Amino acid sequence: MSAPDVVVVGGGVIGLATAWQAAKRGLSAAVVDAAHPGKASWAAAGMLAPVTEVHYGEEPLLALNLESSRIYPEFVRELQDAAGMDVGYRACGTVLVARDADDNAAFAHLYSFQSQLGLAVKRLRAADCRAIEPALAPGVRGGILVEGDHQIDNRALSAALEHACKSEGVDLLTGKVTTLLSGPSGRAGGIVTGDGHQTCGAVVLAGGCWSGLIEGVAPEVASAVRPVKGQLVVLRGSGSQPLIEHNIRGLDAYMVMRSDGRLIVGATVEEMGFDTRVTAGAVYELLRAAYELVPGVSELELVEATSGLRPGSPDNAPLIGQTSMEGLVVATGHFRNGILLVPVTAYAVADLLATGRAPEKTESFSPLRFATEVVA
Ligand SMILES: Cc1cc2nc3c(=O)[nH]c(=O)nc-3n(C[C@H](O)[C@H](O)[C@H](O)COP(=O)(O)OP(=O)(O)OC[C@H]3O[C@@H](n4cnc5c(N)ncnc54)[C@H](O)[C@@H]3O)c2cc1C
Repeated sequence: MSAPDVVVVGGGVIGLATAWQAAKRGLSAAVVDAAHPGKASWAAAGMLAPVTEVHYGEEPLLALNLESSRIYPEFVRELQDAAGMDVGYRACGTVLVARDADDNAAFAHLYSFQSQLGLAVKRLRAADCRAIEPALAPGVRGGILVEGDHQIDNRALSAALEHACKSEGVDLLTGKVTTLLSGPSGRAGGIVTGDGHQTCGAVVLAGGCWSGLIEGVAPEVASAVRPVKGQLVVLRGSGSQPLIEHNIRGLDAYMVMRSDGRLIVGATVEEMGFDTRVTAGAVYELLRAAYELVPGVSELELVEATSGLRPGSPDNAPLIGQTSMEGLVVATGHFRNGILLVPVTAYAVADLLATGRAPEKTESFSPLRFATEVVA
């Protein structure tokens, strides 16, 4: 293969979407993927949830999440046209549900925080919750309706991105990148895999939680990204009626109903390094928490229990943009919101590659915020 303009390391949703958008801007691109077990894009639940995911102190991330949520419908139209397939985007809304008085008190605080931020939320009494979701347990105490938090089928999204990449002439290669090649000036100019090496104009590092393991990678990336394990369970109903309409979230579990009858129940958040084992305890806790909110889950078939590794970062926000190494751009560290952040990340990185300038909206997520000064 002649040297492409861009080699993207990592074929999760972030790497594929970035390569597709770079190719749409006229750049030649290849994606190299190692097929590591625990790929987050496969394991995820696919919630597009800027408002329900809001956390104290993460207001800049909220702005990025809201922006990605705003442009998602247009991105989905563009992708479905390119790939010729549906990606299961559902504008279903989300209901946060309190099992008991303690949960309800926690949601009262969350509601007040969300309201102060001007987010579109509505406080619900117990009867309101049951009116909009009749399958909820009779004892639920109240909740919050978030009409703008939706879902996508992340596995269909991954498949569609692969099709879209191929239709734009992106090479999709299998292999583990071990080393970044750099020239005498220190500029990144290619990659080394088990099969040999490939030179290119620029490298985009989108290797999820494994991004820091490649030899020669810029230090601010190597030290910043870590795996955060998540386990989830997939159930399936036999009837034609979905058990729930909205995404349902409690404090200990959430449920996401796909239009094909699958119900995703997630997810644990565990600091376990690169461990991807599915444990009996996690499956038990997830099902118990789901059952307490929606007792009907006990009638569903258990079809899958899986785990994935989120790419975590020290401030829970992604690393998007130029690194301290010329020629090396990074798009990783998307942690809990990597499915949501696909459109905004892909457009920003593709613009940076094509024009040399990153858009303003991703400026605060530069990887350089993790660069430490070397004192002589
Ligand atoms: C249980 C769970 C639930 C989640 N739920 C949601 C949700 O509801 N909503 C949401 O927005 N986000 C969710 N997330 C987070 C989201 O899945 C991730 O943030 C996102 O998928 C990260 O995508 P990625 O492409 O960066 O990484 P990944 O999908 O992990 O892909 C990285 C790829 O890089 C490859 N790679 C790594 N190193 C190399 C190398 N050296 N050479 C070649 N290839 C390499 C790997 O093989 C892998 O295929 C969830 C995650 C988990 C685990």
